[in-house]
Amino acid sequence: MIELSYPYPEPPADGATREIAPGLHWLRLPLPFRLNHVNVYLVEGERGWTAIDAGVDTAQARALWEGLLGGLLADKPVERLIVTHYHPDHVGAAAWLCGRTGAALAMGETEYLTARVHRLATADDLGAERDFYLRHGLAAEQLGLMAQRLDRYRSVVPDLPRRYSPIRAGDRLKFGPFEAEATMLPGHSPAQVLLHAPAHDLLFAADHVLPQISPNVSVAEEKPEDDPLGRYLASLAELPARVPDRTLVLPGHRLPFFGLHRRCAELAAHHAARCADLARLCDPAAPPTVAEIVPRLFTMELDAHQFWFAFSETLAHVNLMARRGEIAEVRDGSLRRWRRA
Ligand SMILES: [Zn+2]
Repeated sequence: MIELSYPYPEPPADGATREIAPGLHWLRLPLPFRLNHVNVYLVEGERGWTAIDAGVDTAQARALWEGLLGGLLADKPVERLIVTHYHPDHVGAAAWLCGRTGAALAMGETEYLTARVHRLATADDLGAERDFYLRHGLAAEQLGLMAQRLDRYRSVVPDLPRRYSPIRAGDRLKFGPFEAEATMLPGHSPAQVLLHAPAHDLLFAADHVLPQISPNVSVAEEKPEDDPLGRYLASLAELPARVPDRTLVLPGHRLPFFGLHRRCAELAAHHAARCADLARLCDPAAPPTVAEIVPRLFTMELDAHQFWFAFSETLAHVNLMARRGEIAEVRDGSLRRWRRA
C-alpha cells in the first residue's frame, strides 16, 4: 500500500483552474458552508467540454462560471455535465449551467430521482417521522431545527434539468482523452457515480473517498432504520480490488491524491474507532439515547446544521452496530436506549 501524497498541494483560487493532465482542468468553486469549496473537473474534447459536477447555484458561483465561459471555455461549447450525486454542492447549479450553455445532463438514475424527491420535501414531511426522532431522545425544539432542513434543499437546488441521460453501473463514458467506467457506490449518497479511467490511472471519486476528512455517512430522514454505513464499509473493502493503488484520485473536496488503498483502510479504521467509542458509551448500567450519545462523541460546539449531521451519523453507527448485535435496544417508556451487548 502506498502512502498518501498530494501531487498538487496548492489548490487553484476560487473560480480559477489548474491543468493536472493534458485536457483535464481542476476548478475550485466556493460553497456557503463550513466545507467552503467543491472541486469541479473540466475535460476538453475535440468538439466541446465535459464538466464533472456543477457546484452550488449562488450569484457568486454563477459569476465565476461566467468568467470561465468567457475564458478557458470560450472556444468550444460545454457539451455535457456529469453530476456524481444529488447533494446541493454537486447538483445545485446543474439547471442553470445546462440552461446557460446547452450542456446535456448525465446522472445516475437513483441520484437524479433522489434530487427530484428532495426538491418536493417540506418541513411538514417531518410529521410522519416525528415520533421516531422523539423516541431517539431529541427534544421538540431540536426537531423544529431539523424540519427547517427539509425546506432547505429546494432553496439551494432551485431547479433541475427536466431531461437527462441516465448513467448505469458498468457504462463506459468517453470524454476528452479519457474512457471511464462508471461505478455506483452507496453510503455517502444512495448510488454515487465514480468514474475510473484505467488507461490514464485516474479515478473521479466524488465524495466517496475524500482525503483529510471522512465523507459524511448519514441515515436519511425517509429511511430511519437503514444501514448506509454497512454498505459504505463494504464498498471501501471492495474498491481496492477494482482500482489500482497507483491511481490518481480526484475527489469532490480537498486535494487530488495518491494512496487510494491506504485511504480506504484509514476510513474503515476511523469508523471502527467510532464504533468502539460508541460501544464504550453504551454502558449497560446507564444506557443512553442516540441524542445523549451525540454530544459525547462530538465534543466541539455544533450549530443546528452540524448537529443534524452529527445526529444522523451517530444513528448510522447505531443502526450498523445493532444489526451486528454489538449493541442492543433497551426500552425506557417511549425512549429507545442502547447498551453494549
Ligand atoms: Zn456529497
